[in-house]
Amino acid sequence: MTLKISISGVRGITGGSLTNEVVSDFSKAFATYLGKGQVVLGRDSRASGENIKDICVKSLNQLGLDVIYVGIAPTPTVQLMVKELKADGGLIITASHNPGQWNGLKFVRSDGIFLNENQANELIDKYKAKAFEGKGGQRRQGTMKTYKDPYKAHISKILDSVDLEAIKKRKFKVVLDSCNGAGSIITVKLLEELGCDVIRLYADPDKPFPHDPEPVPENLKDLCDKVKEAKADIGFAQDADADRLAIVTDEGKAPGEEYTLAVTIEHVLSRAKKGATVVVNLSTSMMIDDIANKYGAKVIRTKIGEVNVAEEMVKQKGLIGGEGNGGVMYPRVGFNRDSLIGIGLVLNAMASKGKSISQMVKDIPGYHIVKRKIDCPNKLEADKLIENIRSNYKNERIDERDGIKVIFKDSWLHVRSSNTEPIVRIIAEAKSQEKALRLSRSIELQ
Ligand code: MG
Repeated sequence: MTLKISISGVRGITGGSLTNEVVSDFSKAFATYLGKGQVVLGRDSRASGENIKDICVKSLNQLGLDVIYVGIAPTPTVQLMVKELKADGGLIITASHNPGQWNGLKFVRSDGIFLNENQANELIDKYKAKAFEGKGGQRRQGTMKTYKDPYKAHISKILDSVDLEAIKKRKFKVVLDSCNGAGSIITVKLLEELGCDVIRLYADPDKPFPHDPEPVPENLKDLCDKVKEAKADIGFAQDADADRLAIVTDEGKAPGEEYTLAVTIEHVLSRAKKGATVVVNLSTSMMIDDIANKYGAKVIRTKIGEVNVAEEMVKQKGLIGGEGNGGVMYPRVGFNRDSLIGIGLVLNAMASKGKSISQMVKDIPGYHIVKRKIDCPNKLEADKLIENIRSNYKNERIDERDGIKVIFKDSWLHVRSSNTEPIVRIIAEAKSQEKALRLSRSIELQ
């Protein structure tokens, strides 16, 4: 398995492609990129994280960077702490939704947003050239200190951004599946502050992942069963670094990650003035367009990648946005995907509407979305596939900002190479499951 280096950071198999040297060199490249100052460092709960942390600290310190270590913390918490502590950057040790044997690094700017494409390419160039001498000539040894409670600031920002009293009054019964990841402890605390009765299904960061951490329906069977058995109001699932969120309804069903963003955007727009702006990526469900239409809001779409949505949200003064993969972005807390504000807004929506989550899901005009991936070890094959689609659909509306998206009246097909894995992602959405499936399979027939 090759090392995956992209604008989203670096990921690999621990002890395989992600060697100590790769970690050290990337940390040094990041130190060189920043030049000087303080770096907030955090990690998810993977067993390999502790060793990788030691290497990161040593490498950053060697080049004169000071490290503030926040321990096991969600990616959005680390991003927030970079801003709160006025640090110069952030380094997050995580392989996000990838299985347990993976790990990796994500790189954060001083504004709490990930490096963008140009900045990431600059970093990758430094990594490849091993040009680690830095800007300041002779360097002093950096320092390292531990920050005790990074959760406090994040939780308080969320409590300030929701209708706390309305949520508390409902005393929701919630089942939590953090996949024993970085969200485990902070999310239990948040839910308790929101007055919920919390059932911890998988919320122990000392234990291994109980299932594949990607919060897609096929991985949420235990959560569905537990919600039903406990007669809970809702179930929440996070990926290993807790930037993505999926919901399970009181009927024990997983409607798919797209509904996380749909429910939260519906709630926020229902309380906003007309003319608000929502920013989502090209692969996000058309449900968002329908909801925005209902409230007179505008939808802007961007290339895939959290940083692309974030920078557009800053530019367009977006009220809310995110990615259909369960990534809610709410600028009142931060310009980043954040499962914790997602939870706050979903519970807020349930409290203010006085409806069950299953009813709210049914109320949103539905689409069927089919997400598939096919192995594609090299760019040449991916390019060939895209060229075929381009010629087959040459008379349709086509967006080529990111792979290729063919847009029909009430359906679309999006095909692109993943930033993080050697695969091609195929996403098709239509009013019926059959049509979405047919669209998603049409590329293999070409
Ligand atoms: Mg993630």
